[in-house]
Amino acid sequence: MEREKLQQNIKHLSQRIEKAAKKSGRSREDIALIAVSKNIDVQTAAIAADLGIKDFGENRVQELKVKADALPGVRWHMIGRLQTNKVKDVVGRTVLIHSLDRWRLAEALNKRAAFAGIEVPALLQVNIAGEEQKAGLDPADVKSFLESVGQLENLRIYGLMTIAPYTEVPEETRPVFRQLWELRETLRIRDYANVELRYLSMGMSNDFEIAIEEGANLVRVGTALFK
Ligand SMILES: *Cc1c(COP(=O)(O)O)cnc(C)c1O
Repeated sequence: MEREKLQQNIKHLSQRIEKAAKKSGRSREDIALIAVSKNIDVQTAAIAADLGIKDFGENRVQELKVKADALPGVRWHMIGRLQTNKVKDVVGRTVLIHSLDRWRLAEALNKRAAFAGIEVPALLQVNIAGEEQKAGLDPADVKSFLESVGQLENLRIYGLMTIAPYTEVPEETRPVFRQLWELRETLRIRDYANVELRYLSMGMSNDFEIAIEEGANLVRVGTALFK
């Protein structure tokens, strides 16, 4: 991808993020853009990094490994479904795992982090819309998950993540984002060990403005950047 085009896309996207942030009484700096570089080659990711992109997201472990090792100077996020036998490739390479969606995975991450002598930061992925084909905890199960996380000494939960159903009309995603925000507000008043619910990771190319208006502070955008 051409540098000029990418530069333009970044600028335009940043302006859209700023506008949505202002609408919700926040500033551009309150919202971190995670550039989703899946299907993008390392060279293009390197140009994006050179243009100031600090955070990148990948949904496949193999691609994450290759790119994170090629570009160690930026922050890598794991945003896709993660198998327990692949945690060793992700722990230590990522600043945040957005897709923690089951207890067995939490245990596997914790074990690997303990082995590496580090803490692993993660978000709980919640299936707000209850879509069968999508990963994520049932909203009703999040509380008991958080109550148990203290047992896993090397795991830290820093917030919640969701993926809204795709729709031609982005406005229709608003209730999904609002529900994740409300869930976070309800859980935030409790003091769970190893939990600090500071991040809401929600919003993609199609719906990030709505997500920001509803309180997102991490948005995961691919197509709108790299198209
Ligand atoms: C691909 C992907 C994105 C980015 O999607 P775009 O529509 O290209 O912006 C965000 N989050 C997850 C989990 C993804 O897999």
